[in-house]
Amino acid sequence: MILYTLRCSHDHHFEEWFSNSADYDAKKDAASLVCPECGDKDVGKAIMAPNVGKSSAAPMPAPSCGTPMGCGGCPMAGQH
Ligand SMILES: [Zn+2]
Repeated sequence: MILYTLRCSHDHHFEEWFSNSADYDAKKDAASLVCPECGDKDVGKAIMAPNVGKSSAAPMPAPSCGTPMGCGGCPMAGQH
């Protein structure tokens, strides 16, 4: 099942469950998608909010010894 956020031509948003995207297409083609607020049949998928800001930043490499600079600044670099 897929939950789509739908939007009518009057900018009402509502959610509807579909078996799959083909089910959505079939119901849209049959004009059986109706806005529950105004009865508008000019209904389409709402633009989903883009996934901004969730791209995973490269994780900082964990310092391999206790110094803030990591092993490069450690007096014992190369020895442990
Ligand atoms: Zn509406």
